[in-house]
Amino acid sequence: MKRFYLPFNKLKKKSLYNLAYIDPITELGNYYYFCQEAQEVLLKDNNIPKYILILDLEKFRALNQYYGHDVGRKLIIELAKKITNLLVNYNNIISRFANDIFAIIIETNDNINIIADNLFNNLRHINVENETYNIYPIIGVYKAQNSENILIAIDKALTAHDEIIGDYNTKFNVYNENTEKEIIKEHKLEEIMEEALKNEEFKVYYQPKIELKTNKVVSCEALVRWFRNDTFIQPNDFIPLFEKNRFIIKLDKYVFKKACQDIKYINNLLRENNYFTNKSDIQYITASINVSKEHFSYDNFIDDYLNMTNKINIPLNMIELEITESASVFKGISLASITREMKQKGFNISLDDFGTGYSSLSMLQDLTIDVLKIDKSFIDKIGTSNIVRYIINMAKDFNIKTVAEGVETKEQVETLRNMGCDIVQGYYYSKPLSLEEFINFCNKT
Ligand code: C2E
Ligand code: CA
Ligand code: CA
Repeated sequence: MKRFYLPFNKLKKKSLYNLAYIDPITELGNYYYFCQEAQEVLLKDNNIPKYILILDLEKFRALNQYYGHDVGRKLIIELAKKITNLLVNYNNIISRFANDIFAIIIETNDNINIIADNLFNNLRHINVENETYNIYPIIGVYKAQNSENILIAIDKALTAHDEIIGDYNTKFNVYNENTEKEIIKEHKLEEIMEEALKNEEFKVYYQPKIELKTNKVVSCEALVRWFRNDTFIQPNDFIPLFEKNRFIIKLDKYVFKKACQDIKYINNLLRENNYFTNKSDIQYITASINVSKEHFSYDNFIDDYLNMTNKINIPLNMIELEITESASVFKGISLASITREMKQKGFNISLDDFGTGYSSLSMLQDLTIDVLKIDKSFIDKIGTSNIVRYIINMAKDFNIKTVAEGVETKEQVETLRNMGCDIVQGYYYSKPLSLEEFINFCNKT
């Protein structure tokens, strides 16, 4: 039998090439191969759209540990074969970067959403030696620019991929310039938040709450504002981020302390100005302070807050804590047990944004709360819906006061008055004000 041998120098060259560019497990290209070859594709000037996809598996490490590395390795081989088969009709390059991470470039005029959707649907089950394994692919997609640098294009596909890690409602994610901008903005804010707190860039503003019976300011809501150099950053631009990175715990404590000091000062001043004497039953103005649900997983927040009030020497009936219903259950602690403990320690509690989350009217009987804040979305529809009336009546049955939020018109005020709502808050009366402005506002009412 005749055998053909590669000349030694050619053999050597080939194995060096394999070592450098081929993934020994799947026999696909590796990272270096992909960068080189996909860059060539991006340099083609043929007007056919080119997409980079990054694909890996949710919790592959856990799967590997659970079933063993041998199964893990075979699963990766099967996955590589399946991806190759699914894309066989497209001009593509598939490579494995590491572990379970695959990169793909596809050149096609077809709809990439359909291709990605098809990949996802067909990769949910992988067979290895007669066993079927359920897996969950995470797919990030980026439509590359002509002649774009491949490293930048990969990075964008990775950004799209990273955005949906842990999100089981999404099959794949296509890169979008805006989300990238959001991420950059968030990083910038994270870099400066600690310093901003030290430099007192966060200011507490107070929005008046008016009692409908007396038309007097009886309370205010403390709302944080971030002034940086000459710019004003809106709470909606940083509160959700601070809830994610838990900086909100520090910021809320700061706001709490400041609001306690301010409301004590406000009351002393108003008393000197005889604000309370000529009106019957109000003896002091209260401040309601937002407490993020992130505190609930943090054991000592109630005691910490109590210590602060002791140090500031402020009576607890001058303050109210606003909590949101979305925090119904956290780490096995129910909102009912949290409100019970807060109440036992002497805090007044207000349930914020009522009606927007998980709460129901029947929940009220389990919660020891003093005030219910009816969300603005209900106030907006007050002319056409009876919900607000039901909420107010139900709250009365439980001896809970009602505050209507986001009241903007005289008609809304009158309707609320007829329905028996206790207190209103909104632009119709005033926007949130600085400490000085708030004191002036009270003196005028
Ligand atoms: P929220 O607690 O529901 O506060 C009410 C928001 O509605 C405030 O926005 C307020 O300025 C606005 N608002 C009041 N009246 C009206 C009105 O008549 N019309 C309209 N369109 N809006 C009105 P702001 O100050 O931008 O705060 C937004 C959210 O940020 C707050 O919603 C609250 O969830 C959060 N937040 C603000 N300060 C703090 C804080 O110190 N700690 C925590 N944890 N969250 C805070
Ligand atoms: Ca609030
Ligand atoms: Ca609210």
